[in-house]
Amino acid sequence: MTHTADGLVALEAQLRQDLEYLELPAKSWVPEHQYKGVPVRDVVVIGAGMCGLAAVAKLQLSGVSNVVAYDAAPAGLEGPWVTFARMETLRSPKSLHGPALGLPQLTFRAWFTAQWGSDAWQALDKIAKDQWMDYLVWYRKVLNLPVQNNVRVTRVTPVDGLLALELSGAQSGVVYARRLVLATGRSGLGGFAVPDFLSGIDRKFWAHSADEIDFDALQGKRIAILGAGASAMDNAATALENGAAAVDLIIRRKAMPRINKMTGIGSQGVVHGMHLLADDWKWKFVDYTASTQTPPPRSSTLRVSRHENARFFLDCGVNSVKQQENGLQLNTTQGALYYDYLIAATGFTNNFHGRPEFAAIAPYIRSWADGRYNSEMGNARQSMLEAPDLGPSFEFRERTPGECPLLAHIYCFNDAAMLTHGKVSGDIPAVSAGADRLARGIIASLFAEDVEQHYASLQAFDIPELQGDEWVDSTPLLKQENAL
Ligand SMILES: Cc1cc2nc3c(=O)[nH]c(=O)nc-3n(C[C@H](O)[C@H](O)[C@H](O)COP(=O)(O)OP(=O)(O)OC[C@H]3O[C@@H](n4cnc5c(N)ncnc54)[C@H](O)[C@@H]3O)c2cc1C
Repeated sequence: MTHTADGLVALEAQLRQDLEYLELPAKSWVPEHQYKGVPVRDVVVIGAGMCGLAAVAKLQLSGVSNVVAYDAAPAGLEGPWVTFARMETLRSPKSLHGPALGLPQLTFRAWFTAQWGSDAWQALDKIAKDQWMDYLVWYRKVLNLPVQNNVRVTRVTPVDGLLALELSGAQSGVVYARRLVLATGRSGLGGFAVPDFLSGIDRKFWAHSADEIDFDALQGKRIAILGAGASAMDNAATALENGAAAVDLIIRRKAMPRINKMTGIGSQGVVHGMHLLADDWKWKFVDYTASTQTPPPRSSTLRVSRHENARFFLDCGVNSVKQQENGLQLNTTQGALYYDYLIAATGFTNNFHGRPEFAAIAPYIRSWADGRYNSEMGNARQSMLEAPDLGPSFEFRERTPGECPLLAHIYCFNDAAMLTHGKVSGDIPAVSAGADRLARGIIASLFAEDVEQHYASLQAFDIPELQGDEWVDSTPLLKQENAL
């Protein structure tokens, strides 16, 4: 595959021209605000992964220019792609528009074709995960997005109608924001979902699949992987490729899920219609897909099963885990199994109390368990009950009205929004639609909050369009005629 840098230069020129044709970015329109003499940000976005970048880009293009995204990760290492994502390629088809926000020149396809040509595009099967990261790095650069890396938001507190954000890392201290977007990724508001039987087990014997794992150290070891999703396969394959002696997939289900249901019915109807459905329908869709489960990609599963020392144990629920001197004893429904190390590919949780930075607001966040769910909707699934009960633009709602009104200024633009909003704030296919919905909500709310200033601007605006010499007042003539 021959690479040409000139193609990218030309693409960037074309993108600049398209933006100019569309008068983008729109002129900056939000009045400046200060708090105790310090400038206030109109919007702060926590996280500069794909969702954070799309959110910042959409806001900036819409003339909300006083915006910044903070990411704890170093530049180029945001999100899972080159850190804990252990697959070889994306699951998604290469042609998805992703965060392109309706701009053809911003798509992965345009970026790829500009550098490697149309034949290479035709020949490409799936997007390599590192290449997806390279694309996101370019996306940020070409749109000149305001992102500050190596900055962790450690605490969010409501103060005098604003949100005070404590920062640590490359920038420390407190910044104030009028609106806050949580683009914090898969773990959303919670953290890792870890089965109870691992509590109390020394961390030297186990990791979560999204942890940093030293696979070299697992050479020659017997590894158990809990789960049968994409991450289970990716971690199993990585362990096998790094010389693990044996890898067992411990799968509670009797059969592997084989059909990717939600992807199967993907359409613009789902993207734009799901969030407007009645709550019982939303519940039904998410409950059904949670019960049928998403299968791991075929290629990821083959990447595991081609190793002779890989085994798939189905109908194998773990009842308890016993820590031994040099490993773990898993007491399963199929009997006792012994391992040197375990990787829990058990996903993430929406439990708001799992993230220290949100501890000050977590108790006030209304979830579906707080009255939005009723038993007639279907199974009382814990992960769904914990989902935040969001407003139409991803904004949080209060559990008890009046206790934390500023929650309405905090937007949950991450995976935890799925039950209320559909899959528009986590996966690649519909992230642009999500960013659009989010930006419209923020724009409307900033405009409404500043309405007096906008009205004052309307009154103060005094640049005449007519100079006064374009016409003659004929009323005196009319008076004369009437007098005759
Ligand atoms: C292993 C894996 C593979 C996936 N593969 C696909 C796929 O093939 N196709 C698809 O459509 N989707 C896929 N997804 C789902 C989804 O596209 C990704 O999770 C994607 O990264 C979501 O983007 P995001 O911006 O929401 O979150 P992330 O990319 O995770 O970004 C969140 C960012 O927030 C930052 N952050 C969090 N808290 C703080 C804080 N307090 N202060 C500062 N920064 C903070 C983190 O450092 C991180 O960079 C995959 C997910 C995973 C985990």
